Amino acid sequence: MNILVLNCGSSSVKYQLINMENEDVLAIGICDRIGFDGSFIGHKPKGHDKMKLQIPMKDHKEAVKAVLATLTDPAHGVIDSMDEIAAVGHRVVHGAEAFSASTIITEEVKDAIKVCSDLAPLHNPANLVGINACEVLMPNTKQVAVFDTAFHQTMEPKAYLYALPYKYYTKHKIRKYGFHGTSHKYVAYRTAEFLGRNIEDMKIVVCHLGNGASVCAIDGGKSVDTSMGLTPLEGLAMGTRCGDLDPAIVQFIAEKEGLTLDEVINVLNKESGIKGLSQFSSDFRDIEDAIADGNKQAALAMDVYHLKVAKYVGAYAAVMNGIDAVVFTAGLGENNHEVRKEVCNYLGYLGVKVDDELNHVRSMERDFSAEGATVRSLVIPTNEELAIARETKQLIKKN
Ligand code: AMP
Repeated sequence: MNILVLNCGSSSVKYQLINMENEDVLAIGICDRIGFDGSFIGHKPKGHDKMKLQIPMKDHKEAVKAVLATLTDPAHGVIDSMDEIAAVGHRVVHGAEAFSASTIITEEVKDAIKVCSDLAPLHNPANLVGINACEVLMPNTKQVAVFDTAFHQTMEPKAYLYALPYKYYTKHKIRKYGFHGTSHKYVAYRTAEFLGRNIEDMKIVVCHLGNGASVCAIDGGKSVDTSMGLTPLEGLAMGTRCGDLDPAIVQFIAEKEGLTLDEVINVLNKESGIKGLSQFSSDFRDIEDAIADGNKQAALAMDVYHLKVAKYVGAYAAVMNGIDAVVFTAGLGENNHEVRKEVCNYLGYLGVKVDDELNHVRSMERDFSAEGATVRSLVIPTNEELAIARETKQLIKKN
């Protein structure tokens, strides 16, 4: 059984075709520059080199069409026809309170995703276009929505409510939703498996440190708190997002810099975080190189970054009354041993103790705790696409 996983972003569509008999990735790729001149697909069929296919794609519908044509192409395709795709799993960013689990897509589900667009104006509409395109192009194939927010729906009101007038929650559903849920869930369950322990007996903090970044407290396999909020802007310092700050700063910047509210929010989303602090890049690889060259501003940016991650881990140890494991994942968490080390250096009081040699690892599962550690520290690479494919398989089997 093959499952196509689609992740429709604002100007890109990422895809993976996975054979669910053995979880083998048959093809992986990305449609880039959708709606612009020079749009192309970066396509990698299993066992072959990555190729760049120049294909005009004026919108997401054309992109999905191009993905299906590429997968079935006699030259560089991996299947003979679309009939070999049993189902499509769509990553959907915001499910608000409407979705606490993945679901088979129906007209009602699409309507609910549309309603949630208010909360994710860049992402949910793109996700819907992908869903609609698949419905037209493969009308007999089941489609499943897997939400970034669903895993966090187990949070209690005391964790998800902001200390605002309560009517804002009842009227506008302003509350913490959290994101990266598919990743946090996958990594937490994989951690328990890796350690040979029962997830129900574990308290885990997952640090998903990519370009976007969030921390999640997972008690007995359930999300009890997480650092992103109503939108992904809250929480950690990220590549370009500011994370937590005094809300009064918004008005202060607007007045001092003569910016509108929209312009300030744009600065907080796109010009802040590591990019804002370092004053030159949001890519952590650039920052790493600059630090190696003695750039003090880059080092300061990372000092801020490490402290914020460590503060969340400490807070979540309080939330769960202790932790068994702190786990690092995503681009930076999986690849940058310095970040893991610097964060863990703050956590000695909890019982975290790092073995530097074991910590020198990239993108593979590893328990890098030193002897005597009472809290495990691990790298567990995330795999959101596989998690989406598994959820999709489970749902279409049931229905
Ligand atoms: P993600 O959003 O998970 O794709 O992560 C993207 C971030 O991870 C980027 O800012 C990269 O700089 C960082 N990253 C990716 N690969 C590496 C690597 N090999 N070494 C250090 N940082 C990396």
